[in-house]
Amino acid sequence: MRRGRTPLKRKRLRKTTVKPALVCVILLAMPVRSAVSLHPHRQAHAAPLADDPQVRAALDWFSPNISWVNEQQVRLTEIPAPPFQEGPRGAAVKAFLTEAGLPVQIDKTGNVIGEWRGANEKELVIVAAHLDTVFPPGTDVKVRHEGSRMSAPGISDNGTGLAAILAFARAVQAAGLRPQRTVLFVADVGEEGEGNLRGMRALVESYHSKLKAVVVLDGSGTDHVTTKALASRRLEATISGPGGHSWSDFGMPNPINALVRGSVRFINTKVPVTPRTTFNIGQIEGGTSVNSVPHEARIKVDIRSENEEELTRLESSLRECISAGVRDEMDSARDRSKGKLEWKVELLGSRPGGELAADSPLLSALRAADEYTGNQSRLERSSTDANIPLSMGIDAISIGAGGNGGGAHSLLEWYDPSGRETGLKRALLTILGISGVVQEKSR
Ligand SMILES: [Zn+2]
Repeated sequence: MRRGRTPLKRKRLRKTTVKPALVCVILLAMPVRSAVSLHPHRQAHAAPLADDPQVRAALDWFSPNISWVNEQQVRLTEIPAPPFQEGPRGAAVKAFLTEAGLPVQIDKTGNVIGEWRGANEKELVIVAAHLDTVFPPGTDVKVRHEGSRMSAPGISDNGTGLAAILAFARAVQAAGLRPQRTVLFVADVGEEGEGNLRGMRALVESYHSKLKAVVVLDGSGTDHVTTKALASRRLEATISGPGGHSWSDFGMPNPINALVRGSVRFINTKVPVTPRTTFNIGQIEGGTSVNSVPHEARIKVDIRSENEEELTRLESSLRECISAGVRDEMDSARDRSKGKLEWKVELLGSRPGGELAADSPLLSALRAADEYTGNQSRLERSSTDANIPLSMGIDAISIGAGGNGGGAHSLLEWYDPSGRETGLKRALLTILGISGVVQEKSR
């Protein structure tokens, strides 16, 4: 599930007469296509991606098989997958991918990885959908049908992404397609909440040197593409001192006084509107009793920014302000002989940020797929599995896998698969645009 999205201006795409542009975009999006060819000059005149007969066969697989895709989505949704308990659903995905003819392994984190081997095994593209839901064990996950609409917790987020992975594995095998770069179809663990993106962290760590792009499939829809990862940090500032009696030790430096002085400085820190940058003092605690000079006081602060440098600047500002608060309190203490104050600011957690370059081949592949399917989508910033690769400079996007859904993270979650073929075609064309395909002549 995407979080913290801040929709940017909708980019208007031309709806008609796009064919010549499409050809260029698709070819531009496929720099690897000629890289392993024995006849690069011949490939330079290659027809656009969607005109390749095998690619067309893969795209044509979806419509007649759409009920199969819907059925698999229901089957997977009805296997509970609470945080840290994705095993049974992962085992079912493994069985499906094996049935589709791919070699499949489960890594030690619990990620299910099906390998669609390419001509070039030294370069990888990961296509990932998360297995986990936010729902605790015991939640009723039986799917209810009403017309074309299906309802159950997790049906859209991320039953839709998982069903898409199975559909792609089937479609490309049925069409006899072979990619240039090896594609890993992955059902990963730990995307939601406390999972802290551990599945994607493990994948990027394992495949880092070979990894050229990551396409994340999360939820329904085709109207958005996450290309920017929202960065955040959580910090705790602690000030401590000797503490004492409110009457007899009056005048000794007081940690709460120092924290208040520092906090007032911090909340006056200027933050830019663009790039949007925010802070929040979310918790404050400390003290012993109303008639004691406290020996400790703490605040917890959440900071977020569209820009990593602003985040670092804000973290430095917090440290400077807390340090200055301690200095102010020491300077004004009436009795400095009774000890001094200590302070520290610690990092409690961090989600890295990052951004896909506007001229990246992955974005070109997506735009070409949008053009081909007549789809319009806007760029967004949010927190998804794509945060991890984007933060390491690896091209990544997160997109919906088609159809319509709503009520994510609630018991009323629903999904309507009407028209999901467009989303499946769009996503598969994007994947093939970045993996490249081996053309029949050179196969
Ligand atoms: Zn999700």
